[in-house]
Amino acid sequence: MIKKLFVLVVIFCFLINSLIVTGMHINNNELVVSPPNNEEDNITLMLAQLTEEMFLGYVEEIVAIAEKYQESRFTGTEGCEEARNFIIQEFSNMGMNVRSYAWTAFGTFFPYNLIEFSSYNVEARLKGTSNSDKFYVISAHYDTVYKTPSADDNSAGVAAVLCAAKILSQYNFNHEIRFICWSGEEQGLLGSNAYAYEKYENNDNLIATINLDMIGFTSDEIENDENKVMVYETCSDRLIGTTIDVSENPEYSSYLDLKVIPSEDDSGHKSDQGSFCKYSHDAIFIHEYTWNEEKDTSGDSIDNIDINYATRVARLSMGIIASWASSPVISNSPPDKPHSPNGPDSIKINEVHTFTTSALDSDGDQIYYLFDWGDGSNSKWVGPLNSGEIAHASHMWTKQGEYKIRVKVKDEHGIQSGWSESPKINTLEFVFNQKFNFLQNLIFYLLKNT
Ligand SMILES: [Zn+2]
Repeated sequence: MIKKLFVLVVIFCFLINSLIVTGMHINNNELVVSPPNNEEDNITLMLAQLTEEMFLGYVEEIVAIAEKYQESRFTGTEGCEEARNFIIQEFSNMGMNVRSYAWTAFGTFFPYNLIEFSSYNVEARLKGTSNSDKFYVISAHYDTVYKTPSADDNSAGVAAVLCAAKILSQYNFNHEIRFICWSGEEQGLLGSNAYAYEKYENNDNLIATINLDMIGFTSDEIENDENKVMVYETCSDRLIGTTIDVSENPEYSSYLDLKVIPSEDDSGHKSDQGSFCKYSHDAIFIHEYTWNEEKDTSGDSIDNIDINYATRVARLSMGIIASWASSPVISNSPPDKPHSPNGPDSIKINEVHTFTTSALDSDGDQIYYLFDWGDGSNSKWVGPLNSGEIAHASHMWTKQGEYKIRVKVKDEHGIQSGWSESPKINTLEFVFNQKFNFLQNLIFYLLKNT
């Protein structure tokens, strides 16, 4: 009898032990999760791990830094630096590779027009398990204006990035995820601009970005405000599909309970996604449904935000990036560098000129072309076109100067070629043309006024 009991106890202990090993268990107050079988199960576990308590903990620490200084976390001040060190420390504790990127740029600071600012972006990288060099970004700005607790703008956004990093760093993904906190947002998106420009120049395979800014406010006056979230697709309508899929997945609904309201108009809601749009990188912007009147004031306190809502928005954002980074790995070569743009040798200002080029893709993928006009603007992606098909793009230059025009391509998987050779455009003709316009205008003036 005692022998039987002993055997039963041994079997029971073994079963309990194997349950713990294969499922979830608490270890040193950290939730440790073994990888389940499929992506959907994985994402459900991730969402469950992002608790209100974890989220609020981060918001409180970041807000406390703003409240300690007169200048709050204004770019380049002591508070901003303290926040940067806090973010570096948190990312490092998660075991990720962390870097600060210095940037210097002219920005606006009322009542002055342009002032030079210097500060840092902080980036943590979670390497993908495949040899894909695609990567995805989730980001929020950590700087503030003066004298604000900054709970909604944008401590909540930073807290969401930190929560996502803490949880996702316990899992493996096919593709790399980068968690980034910007400074210089309040002076004109300075930190994100430096980053997006570098990726543009280097043809990095940055596939998509989520930007979070002001994700914590709900109004009692708007019906079901706590169940709606704005997603701006200004920089890419391609990304709204996954966003809606994640929000509507029945497996996730108890953690999210959010209806995505897509919008193409983010004017008045300019945040760091604007830098990605400028350099033709795909990005979405996630924002509370109702505008927060306490933005940038001393009233932007934790009491004024809805932690339950912000936690659900943070979960949605994490679910989207996790789903992107889990996308299948395809064996794929980058398209060839395109031919140097073909067009007129000289240009006339204020007139439209067309340039053409073509490129080949060894996998036979469809391709998109991006012409850089040399005046700080580009054509946006032109396509999709078949490999080898001629691409056309037109542009009007408005200032006298010497312009280097170049073009690059990406395939349907988002993998880019290098930049083409850059012919310089001859400016002689439009100097002559300007003089001609002056004479023409003078004749018209004389005819009209005599
Ligand atoms: Zn903001």
